[in-house]
Order: sequence, then C-alpha cells, then structure tokens
Amino acid sequence: MKCDVVVIGAGPGGSMAAKKAAEEGLDVVLLEKRQEIGEPVRCAEGISIKSELKELIKPEPNWISTEIKGARLCSPNGDNVFMAGNDRGDEGGYILERKNFDRGLALQAARAGAKVLVKTRATGLIRKDGMPCTVSAICQGKTLRIDAPLVIGADGVESKTARWAGIDTRLNLKDIMVCAQFLVFDSTIDQECCEFFFGNKMAPGGYIWIFPKANSLANVGIGIQGSQSSSGEPIKLLEKFMKGKMPKAKILQMVAGGIPTSGPIKTTTSDGIMLVGDAAHQSDPLTGGGIINAMKAGVMAGKVAGKSVSSGDVSAAALKEYEEIWRSSIGKEIEKRYHAKKFFLNLTDEDLNNLTRSLHGHNGSRIVTRDLLKLLFNLNPKMLWNLRNLFF
Ligand SMILES: Cc1cc2nc3c(=O)[nH]c(=O)nc-3n(C[C@H](O)[C@H](O)[C@H](O)COP(=O)(O)OP(=O)(O)OC[C@H]3O[C@@H](n4cnc5c(N)ncnc54)[C@H](O)[C@@H]3O)c2cc1C
Repeated sequence: MKCDVVVIGAGPGGSMAAKKAAEEGLDVVLLEKRQEIGEPVRCAEGISIKSELKELIKPEPNWISTEIKGARLCSPNGDNVFMAGNDRGDEGGYILERKNFDRGLALQAARAGAKVLVKTRATGLIRKDGMPCTVSAICQGKTLRIDAPLVIGADGVESKTARWAGIDTRLNLKDIMVCAQFLVFDSTIDQECCEFFFGNKMAPGGYIWIFPKANSLANVGIGIQGSQSSSGEPIKLLEKFMKGKMPKAKILQMVAGGIPTSGPIKTTTSDGIMLVGDAAHQSDPLTGGGIINAMKAGVMAGKVAGKSVSSGDVSAAALKEYEEIWRSSIGKEIEKRYHAKKFFLNLTDEDLNNLTRSLHGHNGSRIVTRDLLKLLFNLNPKMLWNLRNLFF
C-alpha cells in the first residue's frame, strides 16, 4: 500500500489528525489495532467546557451521554463546594459516550477521505537513507506494508511510534497517574454534577471521581500518582471508597489505565514523524484530562502534514512548525498545570480542607475549572504563594 501519511491509532488525536490531513488533500491511512474503534472505553469521558469541543467539531447527539451543570469538590473532612458552569454563556460540560464519540470521529476522518483500517496493529517503522518510508503492520492476521513519507503517532500512552522514532517518552513513576474505574449503576447518583474527592489517604497524589452518565449510570474512578501506588492499590482504594459512599452501587464494568502527567516532553517530532495526544504527553498534568488536547494537537499535526508533504519536505526541521504551534498554545497551559500539580502534591489534608473552606463564599459562583486555580490563589495568597508565577 502507498499513501502520503499513516496515522497510527484512532483515538481522538489520531482521528482528528487523519481528518485534517485528508481535508488538506493528502492520501491518508488511519490504523487502529482494536477491532472496534472506541472499545473498551478506558476513560471517565468528561469534557469540562462544552465550547472547547464545539470549536473543534459539531458534536452528534449520540456522542453525549449527559450534560453536566457543574462540579462538586469534596475535601478530606467531608466539606464540599459546588462550582457551576462559567461566565461565557456556555454552562457546564459533557460526559461523552466515548465508544460512539471515537467511532464518530473516525467516521468523519473517513468522510474526509482517509482510509480506516481496524484490527490493524502497526508493528514497526522501516527507514531508507535515515528517513522513515514504510510502516509495517499486522492487518487481521496478515502482514501489511504501507509506504508513506510521513507518520503521525497517535497511539496513546504506551506509544510504540515514539520508540521507533527514537523519541524518549519514558515516564517517571511520579509523572504517571495510575487509574482504575468502574462503570456502575446507582439510582442515588446526582445526574447533573460531577464529583471530585480529595485526600492523601483516599487517593494519594490524585483524586476519586464520580461522573454521571444517562440512566443512573456513572463512571466512578480513581487516579493516584504512580510513585505512591503499589500493585492493585487503585482498585483497593476505590472499593473502599465505594463501600462508604455508594454501598448500593452495582458494578457493571472495570477498566484500568495510565495517564501521562509529565508536562511537555523535549521533542514530539523527528524526521518524518509527529506525535500527538497521550503519545506526546499532551494531557493535563493536574487533572489527567486529555481528550480536548489530543484533538487540538491532532488538528495541528494534520495541518502541518498537509504543508510539509505538499512541499516535499518532511524533515524534522520542516515539522518543527508543529512543535512550535502546539507548544505556544496548549503547551503553555500544560506547562503551567505541571507546576501546579507538583505544588498540590505536597499539600496536607489540612491544607486541602482550608482551600475548600476558602471557596465557600463563592458557592454557586460562575467559575469554570480552568479559572479555579486563579481564584484559589486570590483567596489563599499565602498558602499558594509558590504558584504566583503561573498567573502574573
Ligand atoms: C481511567 C481514565 C480516565 C480518563 N478520564 C478522562 C476524562 O474524563 N476526560 C479526559 O479528557 N480525559 C480522560 N482520560 C484521558 C484520555 O482518555 C486520553 O487523554 C485521550 O484518550 C487521549 O487520546 P489519544 O488519541 O491521544 O489516545 P487514545 O485515546 O489512547 O488512543 C490511542 C489509540 O491508538 C491505538 N493504538 C495503540 N497502539 C497501536 C498500534 N500499534 N497500532 C494501531 N493502533 C494502536 C489504541 O488502540 C487507541 O485506540 C482518562 C484516561 C484514563 C486512563
């Protein structure tokens, strides 16, 4: 097979990259190792700001499981504060139906002209004169070779593309969030509000979430810092939490996974290669959310692919443009939030209680999560003094 660009991985990052590259007039092949795009779902499926998604793509009704009016933050002593929507005329967020969402994005890539191959695992990269020229893959049990001058690695946190390209994406244990999640049925779940629970014993270096879905379902999960986790620890902690908080919940599914929280890595490009999404560690180091950043990076990579393939120059120097655009946009925020993460990791439970208490006068105020850090800083300048560089 021959094409202009091979995209490895049909998650949100890969499908958006394939769509954009196809719209730029390139001949695109999108590879997905799973036989069904989007399944199994290893995600809490939350998007905190609706408009961020809408700016990237028009959501189809079946991509949305439920709409969320706000979030409740719960501190270790049981105190809590509710944050409602934001002041941009765009209230709350979505809990997606990721199996439909991921499939929908791949369909849009296909509509734009990309060829989608499922049950096709990329297995290696062959070079000619130092430049990648062929992706080898196993397609439904058969060996496949696809000649292409450019490869976009969107193969998630365990990216092999990065390794083949010689890009170091190894994660230090302190920079990975180790997660476990149950899909549960519980008729007592608040259907309009996401809940976050903090506490160093409850979720060391992370948090527990309850994200409601339609029909009294919810994603109930935990993410803890890799360096504070031992084997089976996330599940044990999650089960303990559920026993106390939702004793009647019925578990229908369980997933485990990791999220890179390292902040921007040194490079995400090399000759003939661009990395996007979790493969490039573009998820939010503070919350672990990565859907929107992966999509944004995918669009940027697709655009640069169009330019570089058309001009016949896919060298690392030509692909630097991708590096520059994502670092000057989402990269800046990722960098900031990495510093915030490091700071919050050192807070005691007492500190967390105090921060929650400080928000009380602002109950119901229209703040969006991304503005929360600034509000917390303004309310607690002494405690959060080390974060001042993030805002000023
Ligand atoms: C438990 C958990 C909860 C989360 N909750 C949220 C949340 O609520 N909100 C949020 O924004 N983010 C959340 N995230 C993070 C989010 O899921 C990721 O950041 C996002 O999916 C990244 O998109 P991506 O396209 O980069 O990678 P992925 O979605 O991981 O897609 C990578 C794709 O590549 C495919 N692939 C891998 N290797 C190969 C290969 N060799 N050949 C072909 N295909 C390959 C995989 O099968 C996969 O489909 C969560 C993550 C976890 C683990």
